[in-house]
Amino acid sequence: MYDILIRKGRVIDGSGNPWFEADVGVEKERITAIGSLASAPADTIIDARHMVVCPGFVDMHSHSDFTLLVNPLAESKIRQGVTTEVIGNCGLSAAPLPNLLKENILKTMPMLKEAKLELTWSTMGEYISLMRMKGVALNVVPLVGNSNIRVSLLGFENRLPTRDELQEMRRVLAKAMEDGAFGMSTGLIYPPSCYADIDEIVQLAKVVAQFGGIYASHIRGEGFTLIDAVKEAIEIGERAGVPVEISHHKASGKTNWGKVKQTLQMMEEARRRGVDVTCDVYPYTAGSTGLDSLLPPTAYEGGVEKLIKRLSVPKTRKKIREEMIRASEKGGPDALGRPEWDVIMISYCKGHPDLEGRTIKDLSEEKDIDPFEFVFDLLIEEKASVGIVLFTMCDEDMRYVLSHHLSMVGSDSSTRAPYGVLSKGKPHPRTYGTFPRILRRYVQEEGALTLENAIRKMTSLPAQKLKLKDRGLIRRNMLADIVVMDPKQVIDQATYQEPHQYPKGFDYVLVNGRLVIECRAHTKALPGQVLRLS
Ligand SMILES: [Zn+2]
Repeated sequence: MYDILIRKGRVIDGSGNPWFEADVGVEKERITAIGSLASAPADTIIDARHMVVCPGFVDMHSHSDFTLLVNPLAESKIRQGVTTEVIGNCGLSAAPLPNLLKENILKTMPMLKEAKLELTWSTMGEYISLMRMKGVALNVVPLVGNSNIRVSLLGFENRLPTRDELQEMRRVLAKAMEDGAFGMSTGLIYPPSCYADIDEIVQLAKVVAQFGGIYASHIRGEGFTLIDAVKEAIEIGERAGVPVEISHHKASGKTNWGKVKQTLQMMEEARRRGVDVTCDVYPYTAGSTGLDSLLPPTAYEGGVEKLIKRLSVPKTRKKIREEMIRASEKGGPDALGRPEWDVIMISYCKGHPDLEGRTIKDLSEEKDIDPFEFVFDLLIEEKASVGIVLFTMCDEDMRYVLSHHLSMVGSDSSTRAPYGVLSKGKPHPRTYGTFPRILRRYVQEEGALTLENAIRKMTSLPAQKLKLKDRGLIRRNMLADIVVMDPKQVIDQATYQEPHQYPKGFDYVLVNGRLVIECRAHTKALPGQVLRLS
């Protein structure tokens, strides 16, 4: 007697192997049988004829640390087939949460205030307990952000730690790892993580290595410094003896297009030397970040209040402008390559939702104001909380990274929903569309990769990287995170202008043996777990 029996589907087991037809039996939270089970009784029978049955997707790079507490249904993810997501990326996690960072987050993420989310925790352990208590629809893999650790000791100061401070930072990190973090992330273009030098990160990454965790990095540059930045990430892995995940890998800015061939070659060479380096990617040619990340990192020294003050004082404002122009002459701010104002679109602006979906060029011309002045004024008015989408990548690079055997899939988004507070703004369409877009566009339409290989990159590869030994494959005794979909029907619907749209084609999604999507509807079940590093 099975709790759930999925009948006659084409099983793509996540390994990359071709499909085979089989029934899949689920008892409690596990897969207990695969084969011909036609006559077996079951509480729930899913007719999967002509459909694909595969492991639930693992989103290797996400930012749902706060949104999962706002809406634990994880709508935008679960409806793409995501059953596990890695949070705490780009150097910023929800915990540990020192007071100074708490204040900064409340100022720069107005959505949290609107959602009435109280930041009551301070340690990773308290954060995880809260998430367990509230419940969550999908499984969560927490990373600890390097910015969190830095702020704990140094605030937003732009300097290196003393020996004693570094020792204390190692202790803070070790505590977060003991509490349940899977590793540490850095955001080496974002303050204060970007104030860390390589030696500091190596010393911290060694702590991560002791726990068997991973080092995930938004590297120090994705534009004209891309090669050096990849080199640094690999060196950190090599010196600390820690597996490296290079986040949302890309070459940003026209002059840098094509460099991903070299960076992936560097990763392969590093692997031959024994460094376990891999990367993740999302299937779009636009990225997304905060408008303030266009500013030089020095502008942020001391935190958001200081930043706003610098932008308000004519002398420092002029200096910031000059630094940005200098950087753009060199090939652009490290983050972006060489941004032109027409490739930067506002995606979130609480005070002026009418600006959302429009470019800086367009808006500054319309208002007949210099684009720098427009950007600075807007940052002051919105307390540095303005989201942007940047069209700075090329499809050829993206396809190259996506089809490379070292890449897996990461959406680089937080969970959203087309209702309530999480429906605000025009977030990057990757939020709702990453996984179906790969299956539709790059598998079905372009044939850039096989369905089996695409699913491997969404399942067993990230599971292996995260040491999730009983997830990521359809095998007996594995935990029953399962997607039942019709690949011919799968399609992403989210666009840059209308992003809050669920994809189609995902009929059933099981998390730990329970149906969260049933006949294309959310059951409101919250069977997700905060996973432990094993
Ligand atoms: Zn990032």
